[in-house]
Amino acid sequence: MATFKAIRIDKAEKGTTAALVQFDEADLMEGDVTVRVEWSTLNYKDGLAVTGKAPVVRRFPMIAGIDFAGTVEHSSHPRWKTGDRVICNGWGLGETHLGAYAEKARVKGDWLVRLPDGISARDAMAIGTAGYTAMLAVLALEHHGLSPSKGPVVVTGAAGGVGSVATAILSKLGYHVIASTGRVSEAGYLRDLGAAEVIDRNELSGPAKPLAKERWAGGVDSVGSTTLANLLSMTRYRGAIAACGLAAGMDLPTSVAPFILRGVCLLGIDSVMCPIELREIAWKRLVTDLESGKLSEITYEISLDGVIEAGHKILAGQVRGRIVVKIS
Ligand code: NDP
Repeated sequence: MATFKAIRIDKAEKGTTAALVQFDEADLMEGDVTVRVEWSTLNYKDGLAVTGKAPVVRRFPMIAGIDFAGTVEHSSHPRWKTGDRVICNGWGLGETHLGAYAEKARVKGDWLVRLPDGISARDAMAIGTAGYTAMLAVLALEHHGLSPSKGPVVVTGAAGGVGSVATAILSKLGYHVIASTGRVSEAGYLRDLGAAEVIDRNELSGPAKPLAKERWAGGVDSVGSTTLANLLSMTRYRGAIAACGLAAGMDLPTSVAPFILRGVCLLGIDSVMCPIELREIAWKRLVTDLESGKLSEITYEISLDGVIEAGHKILAGQVRGRIVVKIS
């Protein structure tokens, strides 16, 4: 029986355990496409899954990992054939469906996006869910009508994965980017990515007033809680904030004042169940709107046996930019 290396999450008496094991191919779940996984990545959610700090995993045993890039080995799906290069992000990978930290994955062909021309499988995972979510946030702001002429944009959690990619994309598009970070020592890194200003996240983490001085026309928030509430209360008339994350908390202690007195919009961003048509647009835009040089500056590489340790680091806010995981 064929086996392959995988990071398996099991239920324990208290919480869960994670270990690098040999996984039996016969135990892969149903799907019409089998992929040889070459690269994966580590997102905040992967950190939650491998450490068991939040109930991300909802089926046991589970292979963790929410993103992969690789090559189709077998397919009975009309769109895919052996040798096609593909990307998969979300759709319950690593949560309800056996995931990406494995040499093989079997998934629904409808979940896959073709690896765009111009980027490698490694680059696609350097972008990963974090980068593709940042692009979804930029697309949502554009759909709302935001453009560089409308004013500055703020990015919170700027030294993290979503924040780093959002900063790089928005600056390439010509926006004046205000990067908010708890790691002011990373100001040089953020300026290299294109931030015009770097602010201390403490400025945005206290209780929010219903309305405060208008500071930006839009923003990308990966932090939530009082930070998102402050972003909303400081957004210019008819501006918008794209909410992606909850690094500081799930709550949102705000009021209706920004919405009904300034016409501010709160745009929700979900990468997991995002329709395939929008994914394809996002991935095409990532090829043109994210400089590959900047992507390599923000990326570092680990192998499967480093994933669990890196999972602890990302939750402790010690990861800068993006991590790629070399699988095979
Ligand atoms: P990272 O850990 O790479 O980045 C998160 C950043 O948030 C940190 O680097 C830090 O930035 C900041 N941060 C962490 N803790 C706090 C805190 N207590 N208060 C304020 N800021 C804090 O994670 P990702 O970029 O992968 O993900 C970011 C968020 O987005 C997560 O909550 C994740 O779950 C969510 N997410 C949501 C998706 C969706 O589909 N909606 C998809 C992908 C991610 P700094 O050091 O610069 O302050």
